[in-house]
Amino acid sequence: MINLTGKNAIVTGSSRGIGKAVALKLASLGANVAVVYAGNREKAEETVAEIEKLGAKAKAYSCDVSSLHDAQNLVSEVIADFGGIDILVNNAGIIKDGLVLSMKEEDFDKVISVNLKGSFNMIKSTYQHFMKKRYGRIINISSVVGINGNAGQANYASAKAGIIGLTKSVAKELAARKVTVNAVAPGFIDTDMTGSMPEKAREAALNAIPMKRMGQGEDIANAVAFLASDEASYITGEVLKVDGGMAI
Ligand code: NAD
Repeated sequence: MINLTGKNAIVTGSSRGIGKAVALKLASLGANVAVVYAGNREKAEETVAEIEKLGAKAKAYSCDVSSLHDAQNLVSEVIADFGGIDILVNNAGIIKDGLVLSMKEEDFDKVISVNLKGSFNMIKSTYQHFMKKRYGRIINISSVVGINGNAGQANYASAKAGIIGLTKSVAKELAARKVTVNAVAPGFIDTDMTGSMPEKAREAALNAIPMKRMGQGEDIANAVAFLASDEASYITGEVLKVDGGMAI
């Protein structure tokens, strides 16, 4: 039975979608949560209120994870407010889709900057804290697209594949300090991100799922909670697909 009582977690992009589901799941298992959001304070405060109802401590923090400076300030603030960090979930992500021929250079850079460099920035900012603590759980949200590639998502797939390389490298660096670093690779999950897809693309994605249903945020949250738990203490550098069989 997973028990995260007394653990403190940072979940980036937890004002909505998968991040919110992860924040609520960790809180339901006893963890306190730093709810990190990019723009929508109201939504982040809603997540905080829902966590508090579960009896855990929570606070909302505005942070653009693509800035190392902002990430470092965030981590200092969270350590001051919560007394330490045990779990880091790098979930913040964006898409700017298009075929390479028409993809603007800034759209490639922006997606790499938020999805991949954002995860690096958060890991770099918490690295010493976890090293000194000789304990930590880092869970990076990748995507099955980072494993298989996807036409129209060269920037996003590159970032998500990069997250897998980042995960495995940092797992090797921190293993001796009992810090585990894993990635979860979601398939096609029902959130605002996928809600904005054209109907035809949604249909095609659904048809590619052997289980014939979209995933829910909770499906991802369950995997994250397991990787954050003591039960997963001997698992590191792993990429766990949660995709209804989409990338078999
Ligand atoms: P979403 O768009 O609903 O939520 C993304 C969150 O990231 C939001 O809270 C947003 O505020 C935050 N964010 C965006 N830019 C940020 C920045 N610069 N700094 C801090 N926070 C920022 O998306 P989602 O579907 O919930 O996706 C969550 C994660 O899961 C993303 O990394 C996404 O790539 C990944 N993912 C999603 C799916 C899917 O099907 N929805 C599939 C595979 C992977």
